[in-house]
Amino acid sequence: MSRYVFDFNDGNKELQDLLGGKGANLAEMTRMGLPVPPGFTVTTDACRAYLRTGALPDGLFQEVEDHLRLIEARLGRRLGDSADPLLLSVRSGGRFSMPGMMETILDIGLNDTTVLGLARRSGDERFAWDSYRRLIQMFGKTVFGVPGEQFDAELAAAREAAGVATDAELGTAALRELVAAYQKRFFAYAGRDFPQAPHEQLYSAITAVFASWNTERAVLYRRQEHIPGDLGTAVNVMAMVFGNHGTNSGTGVAFTRDPATGRRGVYGDYLPNAQGEDVVAGIRNTVGLDELARMDPASHARLLSIMEKLELRYRDLCDIEFTIEDGKLWMLQTRVGKRTPAAAFVIAAQLAGEGLITDDEALLRVTGGQLAHLMFPAFDTTNAPAPLAIGVPASPGAASGTVVFDSAAAAAATGPVILVRHETNPDDLPGMIAAQGILTSRGGKTSHAAVVARGMGKTCVCGAEDLEVGPSSFRVGDTVVSEGDVISIDGTTGRVYPGELPVRPSAVVRWFEGELPSTGDPLLTAVERLTGHADTVAKLAVHANADTAADAERARRFGAAGIGLCRTEHMFLGERRELVERLILATGDEERQSALAELLPLQRDDFTAVLAAMDGLPVTIRLIDPPLHEFLPSLEELTDRVARAQARGEDPGHDGRLLVAVRRIHEQNPMLGLRGVRLGLMVPGLFAMQVRAVAQAAAARAAAGGDPRPEIMVPLVASVRELELVRAEASQVLSAVEGVPPIRIGTMIEVPRAALTAGEIAPAADFFSFGTNDLTQMAWGFSRDDVEGAFFGRYRELGVFATSPFETIDVAGVGELVRTAVHRGRSVRPDLVAGVCGEHGGDPDSVRFFHDAGLNYVSCSPFRVPVARLEAGRAAVGDGPVSDSR
Ligand code: PEP
Ligand code: MG
Repeated sequence: MSRYVFDFNDGNKELQDLLGGKGANLAEMTRMGLPVPPGFTVTTDACRAYLRTGALPDGLFQEVEDHLRLIEARLGRRLGDSADPLLLSVRSGGRFSMPGMMETILDIGLNDTTVLGLARRSGDERFAWDSYRRLIQMFGKTVFGVPGEQFDAELAAAREAAGVATDAELGTAALRELVAAYQKRFFAYAGRDFPQAPHEQLYSAITAVFASWNTERAVLYRRQEHIPGDLGTAVNVMAMVFGNHGTNSGTGVAFTRDPATGRRGVYGDYLPNAQGEDVVAGIRNTVGLDELARMDPASHARLLSIMEKLELRYRDLCDIEFTIEDGKLWMLQTRVGKRTPAAAFVIAAQLAGEGLITDDEALLRVTGGQLAHLMFPAFDTTNAPAPLAIGVPASPGAASGTVVFDSAAAAAATGPVILVRHETNPDDLPGMIAAQGILTSRGGKTSHAAVVARGMGKTCVCGAEDLEVGPSSFRVGDTVVSEGDVISIDGTTGRVYPGELPVRPSAVVRWFEGELPSTGDPLLTAVERLTGHADTVAKLAVHANADTAADAERARRFGAAGIGLCRTEHMFLGERRELVERLILATGDEERQSALAELLPLQRDDFTAVLAAMDGLPVTIRLIDPPLHEFLPSLEELTDRVARAQARGEDPGHDGRLLVAVRRIHEQNPMLGLRGVRLGLMVPGLFAMQVRAVAQAAAARAAAGGDPRPEIMVPLVASVRELELVRAEASQVLSAVEGVPPIRIGTMIEVPRAALTAGEIAPAADFFSFGTNDLTQMAWGFSRDDVEGAFFGRYRELGVFATSPFETIDVAGVGELVRTAVHRGRSVRPDLVAGVCGEHGGDPDSVRFFHDAGLNYVSCSPFRVPVARLEAGRAAVGDGPVSDSR
């Protein structure tokens, strides 16, 4: 029989799939002997059963009752006891944290009778009625869907009637009346009384948490964060402890290191005389932990010692939620904390430096996506105007956009927008996803806006208190910023500027470029340590796609171990276009040869420069790939020019001859037409000229004392015969040039037929390089130039794929072609070198796949080389335990 309920004494931190992150960590803290209120976790299995059938599974009721008895026995207090009631909190907690997305209900067990018992036992009537009104509010909203505004309106009316500014100032009588008003609202909306039976409250709450897995906002969050939709959530039922029990009580959140920068030293927010959710929601302004040290030194000292224990146990940054009830500290939650990309690098390197984790583990604590984020530009503030305001730098980055004030406007906008809110709540999620950045006037680094923005890697400044945020404008002093005005927000400094600011490259990029030293900068030393370690463990080499000496030099600075794709077609553009035109217009061999002869020295110089920049490293030069019409004016343009000339009674001359040629080579589907190897076979002398230029460049470099290592790559091969023909011609050309180092000749694999016949092709190829751009185009039958803009957005919504297959390799389809080709190729040629040079070579998820598929290298744009290096190292180290620190 399934077991659906685990006491906190029974679990541990490894059981996250079953108990959810929160439940597993509560169990771990209980095992560590930390002060956790007694409780139990209802498993994700139970949730999945509920989601399947719509009912709580058989046997669950009895298990819950048994565990409830245990809590009651431990505390000497019973649920529903009118004299001394046990109260419970019910909280969701899935495998991956979804901040604010799901439900929490506190104070379960209160009703018209037990509220009096609580008042007597606690000696605090006000507190008892305040707790009761919170229960009706949370329960009404979560279980019966009573709109939150209805309760807010009653609360505001109560404050007004009492003539007070804050809820905390409402007296007992006012709160008692508020409870009655809430109950009326509840009845009016739900059509029944607020349930008085504590057990009914408990089971309805558990059911509501399970059901909240599928709320619209939860589904949206999961899609955004790539969290599988079928995991379900666990439910944690815990004895209540009260942070709203007077000034000697309070509630807070804390991090064992700064989650924004990774700096050592605890960081946290504390809210005296308040209950759990008040802090995370950013509703009232909090004080720092230093202030707590002043107010309650004993609890503060205890908290610090617990945080140290947690870091040692989890060997990572932990975030915690705690409550102090009458001077006694309770731990309500811990988890490996979310952090910014910069903090992820700094913390991983620090922990490795401290010997708490190995460098391999440190590598698994960061991602290529985070490194990519750190390579984003930041604002150049040299000539910036004075900031409008300074808030809390909650999630780094530089974002400019027009100001919008609600989620719907952000989601509907076409250009970049900054979502400005007093504070955010989970209903703002669509707007936060759509916005370039988020700015709030309330809340700290742990407010909803901050936590969610960090998770998304989105720029966020929060708690900019000088902002008076209205419905369609905000005011700072005398300045009014209205909807549609442009502002810039800096998530690293917290500054908010009017207008759009210029941006400058990131420090990480400048360090790669050799413009900044790493010494003394924790982030740069961390990036250095982790990318360096990645290089030592990686099995995949990382090459760059570069076709100029400047790009090649940058690629080297970024750590590329060679050029995996030098596209030669750019060398035919600009002033050289005329030579290509002559080649295309050539009517006889002689004319063609003369055009090629003029191109030869130009190509030779191009290759010489690239080989010099990459001296000692492989440079894979791909013979020309695109169809020839790309080098000529468009058919429409020429037709127009010729028609105009004729209308004026003039001879169209050169244009006329060009038009005839363009018409001759015009294709309906040029990407499937005369391009790549086909062009080489159909235009005599073209490939031979390029091969000769490579050979002469290599010979010249070698003669000059260099170490040129060119390779020649043939594009778009579908049949081994094509490759054999080109190879024969190339070998002949190479052998005719003196002083040429050995040059390998390989092929791209970018046509499905080539992948499937790789066993036939391999004997004629010294290497394979997967052109996954074309391979994706041809495997899916998607035009790579058209479809992404046309319908991929809709395809993602429809769930055909989560990310574009042109961005992340489609493992099941295109990936299978890659695996097949590697397998078939190596079965006839075991030492066959295989790489990838499509865009996927720089995509973090795809790099992992290429490692698994046994490739030798990936090649990507120079800027993505560091990301690919890091991911290649991570892939080699293996998956390790998944840490939910995104
Ligand atoms: C490819 O098809 O993946 C490739 C690298 O070639 P190109 O993008 O130049 O077609
Ligand atoms: Mg291609």
